[in-house]
Amino acid sequence: MNRDFLSIVGELNLAKKILVVGHIMPDGDDISSVLSATLGLQKLGKEVVACIDWRIPWYFYEFDETNLIKGYDEVVNSGFEPDFMLIVDASSPDRIGRFQEFLGKVTTAVVDHHGTNTLFGTLNWVDTKFGSTAQMILRINTELGVSYDERLATINLMGIATDTGFFRYSNADEIVFSDATKLVSMGGKAYLVSRIFENKRIEQFKLLSTMVEHICTENDGKIVYSYLSKKDYESNNCTEDDSGGFVGELRSIQGVELAIFFSEYEKNEVHISFRSKDWFDCSKLAVLLGGGGHPRAAGCTLKGELSVIVEQVVREAKLMFSTQLEAVKNI
Ligand code: 5GP
Ligand code: MN
Ligand code: MN
Repeated sequence: MNRDFLSIVGELNLAKKILVVGHIMPDGDDISSVLSATLGLQKLGKEVVACIDWRIPWYFYEFDETNLIKGYDEVVNSGFEPDFMLIVDASSPDRIGRFQEFLGKVTTAVVDHHGTNTLFGTLNWVDTKFGSTAQMILRINTELGVSYDERLATINLMGIATDTGFFRYSNADEIVFSDATKLVSMGGKAYLVSRIFENKRIEQFKLLSTMVEHICTENDGKIVYSYLSKKDYESNNCTEDDSGGFVGELRSIQGVELAIFFSEYEKNEVHISFRSKDWFDCSKLAVLLGGGGHPRAAGCTLKGELSVIVEQVVREAKLMFSTQLEAVKNI
């Protein structure tokens, strides 16, 4: 058994007031991990506050439990004084937003599956062998003796499903399927998880159409990129939450190895998502640009004018693409 895992379980057993923190720009794995840990620890009678310093995309409210997640101001104004902080699915301090202020003041455990993790907790259980952080929370809950009901199993399953592209990505390995099986056997419902993606607004399709109009290709179609400006979101009556999954559409294009999607979510603040199919290591490119992630899915955020950022990032991407291609050929 992993030493850090056991230490974290030991600390959680002793803790009474726990802050469970997810990352900014939350995705399904993050929300699943925050809620699964929170519901599990609450079942053990602990006082637990779930929090994320970012707006939660509207489609996650398909799960009522998402209402449990509080924002930074709400947590601070409530006067809650945790004796332990559990951070999930976040690879570096900046990823937890203003909750960084609790670091150093309260014993902190980081539970994450990103290879780019900077090990910023008092205790760090970081293991890239897991396709999702949700699987690590399943192990923590199991070791703590949490009893699973249908809701908890479904919410826990959501993180595994979303981080593996519904069991389609290369990280959908035997452990993923066996953990999913375990959750389904405890009442988890995959069809309820898929509801979060079968709930689209017409405006999202219009936004997708704008994104498609902006598609550009490089390197004989092996690199594809597109962008949406703040104005594009506004004119389609959308926010950046409505473009979740667009980068996956870009990657799905025939012959594409690297897909890049630029999202100007605030004027002059651009989130960049990288996805690859077979061999390109996106996390290396993201780290170079100040972000992080996994080999096949990574991201970063840059400040500046959208067109300038697009040009810069595409230039860096092409350079790294050639370097990595040479390395792959030499294997
Ligand atoms: P996405 O493109 O969906 O935002 O993120 C893909 C992956 O990259 C996720 O695993 C996410 O945690 C990571 N990631 C995205 N943006 C950032 C960032 O700005 N910094 C770091 N460290 N990781 C990021
Ligand atoms: Mn995540
Ligand atoms: Mn994850």
